[in-house]
Parts: sequence; structure tokens; C-alpha cells
Amino acid sequence: MTLSSASAVASRPNSPSFQPLEATPEFLAELAEHSARLESATPEEIITWAAERFASRLTMATAFGPEGCVILSMLARVAPKTYVFNLDTGYQFQQTLDLRDRIEEKYGLAVDMLKPELSVPEYEVLHNGPLYKTNPTQCCFDRKIKLLHQGIQGKHAWMSGIRRDQSEDRAQAAIVGWDKKFSVVKISPLANWTKQLVWKRIFDESVPYNPLHDQNYPSIGCWPCTRALAPGETDDRSGRWSGTAKTECGLHTIQETDGSGI
Ligand code: SF4
Repeated sequence: MTLSSASAVASRPNSPSFQPLEATPEFLAELAEHSARLESATPEEIITWAAERFASRLTMATAFGPEGCVILSMLARVAPKTYVFNLDTGYQFQQTLDLRDRIEEKYGLAVDMLKPELSVPEYEVLHNGPLYKTNPTQCCFDRKIKLLHQGIQGKHAWMSGIRRDQSEDRAQAAIVGWDKKFSVVKISPLANWTKQLVWKRIFDESVPYNPLHDQNYPSIGCWPCTRALAPGETDDRSGRWSGTAKTECGLHTIQETDGSGI
């Protein structure tokens, strides 16, 4: 069975009765209260709370990084019906695409592979060549951000695997916060975990992971914008958009002055 099999993918309700959430002061205060309380909770407890609070309106986006794979292993235990999707840009490594099958085989969790409107050849013809070389921000917008909007359609909350110690951009991530960019609640169950904790869980429970991590690729995105770390490099994300000022694809870069979300 392939992961793109429609029957294997948890449903993405999009009923006419859907009412988007509003970021009222009361609601933001409620989120901040939950976030503070969940600071000392385990990721499994955070996911369980999110699944109970948002039920079928909860979703998760994964790029099959180590953190995402750990969350998927937890989801399989505590909320296996959660709709999970991947931003399948057309530029992912084959090892990443193979990993989705290994995750499905081990946990019975299918991931909906959301694809951009234009295939890679169509997109490159439209832009007279690969846009990632000349305008990666636009490329990420067209092939990631638009898909995230699609994935969270009909949802109240999305979950991601970001950790605060990954980058300055992510250091203010709340466990539970309001995501202004997408107007949904954002939940980061691993926000206060470390890289060591993530890898300990992977090895303790034999969670499938991307073999490129064993080849000095600590952070993996699309192949044209990812390289292995050079000797002496210590920042895990230095291999992403190397040689440019770009550090994030734009999914996690909303900084809010009140710190309620990222
Ligand atoms: S990471 Fe690179 S190839 Fe992937 S969407 Fe962004 S610019 Fe395009």
C-alpha cells in the first residue's frame, strides 16, 4: 500500500459548518495558559491534550525530520486518526520519500502527500529554469506555503516538530500559540526538547529515520537547497539554503511581539 492511497489517509474534514477560530484576547489568554501549563508535560501529554481539545480539527505537517518521525511514533499511540500531511514539493530526496513508506509500515500511519499545482517540469518551464536558484523565497511560497494553507484548510490547529534550540527563529516557539500567518493554533510538542532527547527516543524505540542523517545531513529539506555539513560546521541548519541569507522556508518565521506563537 502506498502512502498516497486515499483510503489510508486520515480524513481532512472540510464541512460547510466549519467556523474558523478567532484570535480574541480571551482565546489568546486561554492558549497562553495551556502553553504555560504544558511546559512541564511530556510530548505525549501535549499531543493527547491537542487531540482532545481539537479532535478532527487537529492536523500535523511533517517533512519526516527526526522530530517529525518521533511525533508520528507518538501519534500512532495516542491519536492515530490525526490527519497528517507532507509538503511534497517535487524536490524532496528519494530517501525522504522512502521514509514515508517505512513510517507507514511500522505505525500504520499514512501521510497525505500534498503536491503543488504545477509539476517540477511545468514550474521550471514557467520560470525559465529552476526558481530555487534565483528566487528561493518565491519557490518556497509556491511549493510549500501554499500547500500548508491547503493542508490546514478546515482545521483549527496544526502541529509541527520544531524545537527552540534549532535556531534563533525558533527560540521563542510556544508549546501552544496562535499562528498569525495561518490563523490557526500552532502546537509544538517538542519545543523544549533537545536534539539529544530526540535521538535517544529514535534509538530507544527504533523509530525509522532518514539515512541521510548518517551522512552529515542533520537538517533535510529539498535536495537543491540542502547540503551536508562541512567539517567544523556546528549549526545543524547551515546546510539549508547555504550561501544565501535565507534560513527558513517561511513556515515557522512569524514572530509575535507578545510571544504567543511563532
Ligand atoms: S526548499 Fe528550495 S526547492 Fe524546496 S521549495 Fe524552497 S526554494 Fe524550492
